[in-house]
Amino acid sequence: NNSGKRLVILGGGESGAGTAILGVKEGFEVFVSDKGKIKEKYKSVFENLKIDWEEKKHTEAKILNAEIVMKSPGIPDAVTIVKQLEEKGIPVISEIEFAAAFTAAKIIGITGSNGKTTTTKFVHHILKNAGIKVGMAGNVGDSFAKQVAETTPDWFVLELSSFQLDGIKDFRPDISVLTNITPDHLDRYAYKLENYVFSKFRITENQTEEDFFIYDLDDEIITGWLDKNPVKAQNLPFSLEEKVENGSYIENQNIIVNIKNNQFNMPTTKLGLQGKHNTKNAMAAATVSQLLRIRKETIRESMESFQGVEHRLEKVLKINNVQYINDSKATNVNATFYALESMESETIWIVGGVDKGNIYDDLLPLVNEKVKAIICLGVDNHKLMQNFGNCVDTMVETQSMKEAVRMAYSLAEKGNSVLLSPACASFDLFENYEDRGRQFKEAVRNL
Ligand code: ADP
Repeated sequence: NNSGKRLVILGGGESGAGTAILGVKEGFEVFVSDKGKIKEKYKSVFENLKIDWEEKKHTEAKILNAEIVMKSPGIPDAVTIVKQLEEKGIPVISEIEFAAAFTAAKIIGITGSNGKTTTTKFVHHILKNAGIKVGMAGNVGDSFAKQVAETTPDWFVLELSSFQLDGIKDFRPDISVLTNITPDHLDRYAYKLENYVFSKFRITENQTEEDFFIYDLDDEIITGWLDKNPVKAQNLPFSLEEKVENGSYIENQNIIVNIKNNQFNMPTTKLGLQGKHNTKNAMAAATVSQLLRIRKETIRESMESFQGVEHRLEKVLKINNVQYINDSKATNVNATFYALESMESETIWIVGGVDKGNIYDDLLPLVNEKVKAIICLGVDNHKLMQNFGNCVDTMVETQSMKEAVRMAYSLAEKGNSVLLSPACASFDLFENYEDRGRQFKEAVRNL
């Protein structure tokens, strides 16, 4: 019984507002504190709930009086108020941890460095087609906590960032998926890869032998970690390279999912989303579906019809037989690697933005093989020039999306592709990656 228990919410954004709604419903006395400005739409949530809230400050007396604290994933552990809470021994948890305690639904948790959103939506698409009552939360739509307060699905599919996982205690997904691990966000992990890997693997820490763990067997960071730190859940790996006994693999261009001799198969050529990385995402999604005993025909049809997610290798338009592709979500080198790898024709590549300490070596062979011209779009392009200047004949700098797209149009010949896959963050010229992707699409449509 949580009646009157003091819940403090740090961060008045989507997960803060959701936690407030659920917290009030469950009888907590809620206080929301945000050091920055709170958006109007969340302010009105707090007003409607008639709870106490503040912005542009943290009132320590109120916060340190909490019995439990939900910290939004955007707030680093290192900030003073969080340190103070820890010193006082007050539990600081994430929204996922908080909300999971109040739902009877079973949970599929999906994490990884790349492919989380795509795989989450993929699984949701299949489960929906199968007629299962399923909710989806993560980076899209309403927060998990809000949905727990307002809906009662049988399953939840959750996209989980490492920051969400950092704040768990008892959170235990029935099925966990780890898509891959490449160095990312290391600034929040004391620049130690092992801290980041540990954080991703926390998705398995409360799982038991009754639960399942689906992961990429071709990922050496994952397998290296598993060698030393086996997980309790039943392992169901997927691999493009080797046959596995229980899990998913490729045979004669077919995806096979084999779970205790119950087999699902379908040709990779029929997948709605192409590219090796999407085949992996599909294998993970098919393994989840097979575990839920969804009709194989339904899984097959859903895998054919899934069209992916906006800004992820999204086909925009074909103009003069040139395909324009928006991969604005590729904010790191690994994502761009898979984008270039999936290109089937000579490519004009729009790249650049805020460099996050990128190492471009892995891209060189692909750029040599597939790229005919590079259009740099960012405030500082000299590192790109240095790395790729020798790979292509044409390399130009542009100052705006419109200019970049026009340049691509003038360079493109029949049969080419134009790919926006920046490998960088977007904050120099754009609000965020969505804004960057939308500006690209608008510029393409205006050609
Ligand atoms: P996340 O939610 O983890 O950021 P997304 O599904 O939004 O992942 O995809 C981010 C970027 O990574 C996109 O450019 C996409 O094309 C690429 N991508 C998708 N799946 C994978 C994968 N399994 N491995 C590597 N890159 C991927």
